[in-house]
Amino acid sequence: MSLLSLSNIDFSYNSSKRNIFSLDKINVQIEKDDFLSILGPNGSGKSTLIKLITGYLKPNSGEIILDGKNLNQYKPKDLAKKIAYVPQIPNTIYPFSVYEIVAMGRYPHLGISGFENEKDKEKIFEVVKLLELEHILEKGINEISGGETQRAFIARALVQEPQILLLDEPNAHLDIKHQLSIFNLLKKLNDQNGLTIITVMHDLNLAKYYSNRVLMLKEGKVFLLGTPDDVITKENILDVFDVNVDVQQSGMSETSSIFINPGYVTNV
Ligand code: ADP
Ligand code: MG
Repeated sequence: MSLLSLSNIDFSYNSSKRNIFSLDKINVQIEKDDFLSILGPNGSGKSTLIKLITGYLKPNSGEIILDGKNLNQYKPKDLAKKIAYVPQIPNTIYPFSVYEIVAMGRYPHLGISGFENEKDKEKIFEVVKLLELEHILEKGINEISGGETQRAFIARALVQEPQILLLDEPNAHLDIKHQLSIFNLLKKLNDQNGLTIITVMHDLNLAKYYSNRVLMLKEGKVFLLGTPDDVITKENILDVFDVNVDVQQSGMSETSSIFINPGYVTNV
């Protein structure tokens, strides 16, 4: 049995406006050892799909089964021990410190006192170190850079100690070194700790390099689900993104890479 199974999911936003976006007949099975990248153009439904898996949005029809149980049968605290979510635009209006934001991720594990014990604090500091946040712990979450904010929210999700980590464009604000260090960390957690990763990505090469499976969405439908080499091809990128790319063997890596060139957009 798959760890997470989405069967025949239909969803549409409740809106009085015309042209309401919908996801149609989504069927995806996710296994425990998966590192799944979700790719697709802006507005193709990537964040919507992620929010359905968090339970924040509810499907109109179809079923989401997590570890043998329907997602809507989980109590919030139990669900938070299974799934952690790093939103696309992490923000908070309250001036919490970075430490407070990270520590919030412990809430499903706290006892009735509601306070962190030594084990909780150990976990928090272990993750803080992994994400290189030690030097900004006392700073306000609104007083740090976009990349630091993103790392703080990834830390918050990791201290939750989930089975599945959902990330929505986690590298959007990261410099190239931090992109690699975070994806290396995610890959290590995936390989060694059995953490299932589901991440929305825009970087086709990072998706190719780090994931074992890729889900490509087009206009609210699954265009293709398969291995990176099967999904991230010149033909599929042209069909889904309307961009002509080159796929070539690059000097440094074993796998082929995608090369983008400003002149390659087909119809702009
Ligand atoms: P992606 O993450 O792939 O860029 P989204 O899943 O965020 O796309 O959005 C898919 C479509 O749904 C977009 O056209 C967007 O405008 C629309 N949408 C997103 N959130 C809402 C909402 N709360 N109400 C109505 N429409 C929405
Ligand atoms: Mg999005």
